[in-house]
Amino acid sequence: MKITSALSIIIVALISIVFVSCKIQNIKAPELKFTSAPTASPEPPKETIESTSYPILMYHHVKNCDENCDDIEQGLSVSNSDFEAQMKYLSDNGYKTIFLDDLFYKSDAKTLALTFDDGYLDNLSEAAPILKKYNLSATLFVICDSVGTDRYLNWEQIKQLSDQNWQIGAHTKTHPNLTTLSKEDMEDQIASCKTEIEKNIGKPVKFFSYPAGKFDDTVISVVKDSGFSGAVTTVSGTKNNKNNPFELKRLRINGSDSLDGFIYKVSE
Ligand SMILES: [Zn+2]
Repeated sequence: MKITSALSIIIVALISIVFVSCKIQNIKAPELKFTSAPTASPEPPKETIESTSYPILMYHHVKNCDENCDDIEQGLSVSNSDFEAQMKYLSDNGYKTIFLDDLFYKSDAKTLALTFDDGYLDNLSEAAPILKKYNLSATLFVICDSVGTDRYLNWEQIKQLSDQNWQIGAHTKTHPNLTTLSKEDMEDQIASCKTEIEKNIGKPVKFFSYPAGKFDDTVISVVKDSGFSGAVTTVSGTKNNKNNPFELKRLRINGSDSLDGFIYKVSE
């Protein structure tokens, strides 16, 4: 105790001397700085817009098709090197990728959305590392009954993408032509897939992709009633309207597109 008291006296004396000498020399005593808990700066309010021309690009496979690819796969594939060149172009030219939730908000940057249909394994093994490298985001539309089967991602892998910069959307249970189904079957295909994805990734599923781009008014009303915020089609174009979020147009990127062709499409 005695030693502690003595130490205290010495410390107080030293502080006084420093303080007094600072006063004498008119030097400002060092200020004590307290670090307060960081407060998040409020996000500036987003300005909504009625119609946009932000391209929504549509991909399926990112893979190098060799003799193992059947005709369908061949038609749905963009090679790894082409995909990398496309993403590098976007990154080098100041493009920003958004999720579909942000489609009708004003953006100062050149803006687009990337989408992948079906949920193939190469989306994780080939596309995701390239997107990560260029800090780009994408939306993946999953066929629920194909999850974990040959060539398709399993739930763990889908969750892995969801935990990265990917948003997960629904693409029905079995990829049928929805316009040929009874309303009851339609509801099952659309709503149960949404619920299953949400159960597996622990996040709400907000967007839907019509299998083979087939839809009509009844399909749209079922998608709406199932709680989705919007849906993408295969109708080609970039002009989308806020009043029509269940018929979002996209641009298909083909394996045969040259880089110049790709640039032409995204800058339409
Ligand atoms: Zn599909």
